[in-house]
Amino acid sequence: MSYEAYNDNTLGFTTKQLHAGYNPAEHYRSKAVPVYQTAVFELGDYDRCVRLFSYEEDGFSYARFSNPTNAVLERRITALEGGAAAVSFSSGMAAISNTLLNLARAGDEILAIKTLYGGATTLLRKILPQYGIRGVFVKDEGELRSYEAAITGKTRAVYLESLGNPTITIVDIKGIADIAHRYGIPLVVDNTFATPYLLRPFEYGADIVCYSATKYLGGHGTTIAGLVVEKGGFDWLTLRFPQFKTFYDDCKTAVSEDELKRSLFTRRLRQVYLTDMGAHLSPMSAFNLLQGMETLSLRMERHVENAVRIAEFLAGHPAVQDVSYPALPGNRCHALCRAYFPKGPGAILALRLKGGKSAALKVLETVRIFDYMVNVGDAKSLIVHPASSTHFSVDEKEREAAGIFDDTLRLSIGIEDCDDLIADLRHALEAVR
Ligand code: PLP
Repeated sequence: MSYEAYNDNTLGFTTKQLHAGYNPAEHYRSKAVPVYQTAVFELGDYDRCVRLFSYEEDGFSYARFSNPTNAVLERRITALEGGAAAVSFSSGMAAISNTLLNLARAGDEILAIKTLYGGATTLLRKILPQYGIRGVFVKDEGELRSYEAAITGKTRAVYLESLGNPTITIVDIKGIADIAHRYGIPLVVDNTFATPYLLRPFEYGADIVCYSATKYLGGHGTTIAGLVVEKGGFDWLTLRFPQFKTFYDDCKTAVSEDELKRSLFTRRLRQVYLTDMGAHLSPMSAFNLLQGMETLSLRMERHVENAVRIAEFLAGHPAVQDVSYPALPGNRCHALCRAYFPKGPGAILALRLKGGKSAALKVLETVRIFDYMVNVGDAKSLIVHPASSTHFSVDEKEREAAGIFDDTLRLSIGIEDCDDLIADLRHALEAVR
C-alpha cells in the first residue's frame, strides 16, 4: 500500500471504520486482520524480554496482556472516537468495572446518574461498596446543580450513559463535564447505545468512554466484548489520584513523558487491571468486532431511520400509553436530543402499554419478527421486559426511579424492512386493545 490510509486521521468516519489502525504491510499483506490465535509470543532474547516487561519496547509477550488482533481493534476504536488510546476487555461489564477500579480506591466515591444499565447499577450499589467504593447517585440528573451538590472530596469520577438504558434519557454531557473538571474529576461515559457514529463524547468534554462492544459495534449478536477509550489530556497527577502518581513514577524511565501523560489512564488500566484481573478479549472476538465495525455507520443510519418511524407509529397507537424515544417532540429530553444527536438518538426505545403488565407480556408472546432476548444493538430487532431480565437485580424502588415499571418493554430496532417491523408490532398491539 503506497497510501497509508491506516494512519490518516483526516479521513471520514466510514473510511476509518474500514482502514484505521491496521497496516497490512506489517502482517504479510493479509487484507483481513489476522487472528493471532496464540497464548504466548517468543521473547527472542534476554535483553528484549527485559525491555518488553519494563515497557521500554512495545510488543507482545503473553496474550492476556495484549495481542496484535486486539491491538488493531484498540487502534480502530481510538481513531473512530478521536482519542489517545484504548483497551479491549472480555465484556462491557469488564470494561466498566475495571475502569471504575482504576479510578477509585477504598474510601472513594463514584458519582452516577440513575438511568443506567442494570449491571452497572448493581456494580455501583452492591458490589463496589463491598470493597469500600461507594456509588453515589445524582438526585435530579436533568439538573446541573444536582451534580455539583453531590461532589465531595472523595468523588473520583462522574459516570453516565449517553443514552440511558432503557428509557433513553439524555443528560447535558458538556455541562456535567465542565462541573466535573472544575473539581479535577474525570467524566466517564458509557456510549454503548450511541456508538461513536452518533455521538463522540470527547467532543463534549468526556475523558473516558466505555463500550459494551457486544451491541452495535459488533452489531450481529455474536460476540461479548468491551472497550475503554481515553481522550488524553486529563491531569491524573493530582492529590485526588495518588495511584496514578505512583504508577507514573514507576513508568517514567521507560516511556516518554508526553506519551505517558497522554495515555496514563489506559496504560494503568492495561498494566494493572487487564493484566492481573485477567478479563482479556479473545483474538477471535476482536476479529468479529472488527468485521462488525466495518459497517457501523451504514447500520446506524438504517437503525435510526427505522426507529424514528417505529416510535412515531407507536406514539400514535391507541394501545400505547407512553413511548420513551427522545426524537419524539413531546419527549422530556427532546431539546438535548437535538443538541447532542443531530443524526438521531439511536434505535432503542422503551414503551408502556395502557393494558399494564399483562398487555406487555402478551405483546412479548405475540410478536413474530422481534426476538424476545436481553441483547440490544443487533442487526435484528429485539424485545425484552427489563423488570424481569436486564434490571432484575435492581430493587423495585430504584428500578422505578430509573423509569422502569412492571409494564415497561424495551425495543431494540433492527435493520429489517421497516414495514415488516411495523406490521409485526401492529399485529401484537391489536391483541391487547
Ligand atoms: N452498558 C450498557 C449500556 C449495556 O446495555 C450493557 C449490557 O446490556 C453493558 C454495558 C454490559 O455489557 P456486556 O453485556 O457486554 O458485558
